[in-house]
Amino acid sequence: MSSHYERLAAMNKAHVWHPFTQMKDYNNSDPLIIERGEGVMLYDVQGRAYYDGFSSVWLNVHGHNVPELNQAITDQLGRVAHSTLLGMANVPAIELAAKLAQIAPAGLTKVFYSDSGATGVEIAIKMAFQYWYNRGQSSKTGFITMNQAYHGDTIGAVSVGAIPLYHDVFRPMLFPAHTIPYPYAYRHEGGAAAAMEDTLDALRDVLEQRADEIAALIVEPMVQGAGGIILMPPGCLREIASLCRKYGVLLIADEVATGFGRAGEMFACDHEQVSPDLLVIGKGLTGGYLPVAATLATGDIFDAFYAEYEEQKTFFHGHSFTGNPLGCAAALASLDLMQKRNLIEEGKGKAVFIRQKLEALAGRPHIGEVRQLGFMIGIELVKDKRTREAFSWKDRIGVRVSQRARELGMLTRPLGNVVVFMPPLASTEEQLDAMIHILIRSIVDITEGALA
Ligand SMILES: *Cc1c(COP(=O)(O)O)cnc(C)c1O
Repeated sequence: MSSHYERLAAMNKAHVWHPFTQMKDYNNSDPLIIERGEGVMLYDVQGRAYYDGFSSVWLNVHGHNVPELNQAITDQLGRVAHSTLLGMANVPAIELAAKLAQIAPAGLTKVFYSDSGATGVEIAIKMAFQYWYNRGQSSKTGFITMNQAYHGDTIGAVSVGAIPLYHDVFRPMLFPAHTIPYPYAYRHEGGAAAAMEDTLDALRDVLEQRADEIAALIVEPMVQGAGGIILMPPGCLREIASLCRKYGVLLIADEVATGFGRAGEMFACDHEQVSPDLLVIGKGLTGGYLPVAATLATGDIFDAFYAEYEEQKTFFHGHSFTGNPLGCAAALASLDLMQKRNLIEEGKGKAVFIRQKLEALAGRPHIGEVRQLGFMIGIELVKDKRTREAFSWKDRIGVRVSQRARELGMLTRPLGNVVVFMPPLASTEEQLDAMIHILIRSIVDITEGALA
């Protein structure tokens, strides 16, 4: 008789198609099947424990199975699980919108819900497009994005995406976007200052030549996530924002990854007191519990749609689960708990703790760069530290380090040659210490040790 695990593994293999996964590789491996979570730990069906070292792909804030969040969802479940936001309202969706308007960068007073980061981005793109249309400037249809940008996997979001491996195959079906460099200091001959200058020069060029054809620029503020945890030099975001303003182009900040304390402040834009015209949030919004995202807009954007019905300026967009009450209740409870536990301020101290612990990697021969902003950490591994020569993608160095970490009891997922460490914000220093121990040992074992 086969075990519980073997039965599930067989059904998984027969029927589940996994995202971002080469299924041929996957089907030749022993699948990890999670059964439950508790705090920063996840447990598989065979009872093995793992630290959630990547917050279940950058979502989790308070850990798993958190009594306060469970309670908020159960309470709401006892009232209503879902009712639509099309032309009517529900209690948690209203309360959450008011709360978001209060904590978001200044001016973002209107909240449009959806159910994933990608849909939140689609909404921002369509709003920016129709904003200009409604104002009679229908030539402003284009978008500016940045090299290695990632904004989700729906067609609009992929159109403003710029990661060749993910996006190139779909290019023929996408709308074109202007791509400017993202300031990648480590891979720029002139370092941070020159990288930033190149970015701003390229942006100035596009704006000078074509601002009247461009609706908006979309950016992952302060940290580019899926592109490799790449940090913007200080001052760059503020400069991008001011150029957009100067040339009459809307600024869309995609904070799906960086929001809710992940990058060290409530929002990454807060690092430079930038207020975008549109702000996209998702991932950590519900503490990583339920699929709720939102696109926040300024009153100015909203007003361009606010008219007599006959003028046909309505924003015709929505999703079945827009404003889902269970998800909004979870988000409210998560924000409450963040405040009660002073998670963002506490997180700043813990981020310093992480930085100090990671200093142990500094002298290692295959550590190109350790990048960190708050609880977003990327460690770029290189074949040759001196020349910065990259490992070949065929070496799958990041994958092997992550596999080793799993053997040692921590889950994470790499971005090419960049090892990712994104623990839940609520992790204690003791837990962080244990996770970093596994992280370092995995890197050393794979790049230097017997497993190299
Ligand atoms: C994850 C992510 C998205 C997409 O969010 P989904 O919920 O996966 O659709 C968009 N933008 C950024 C910056 C992200 O990190």
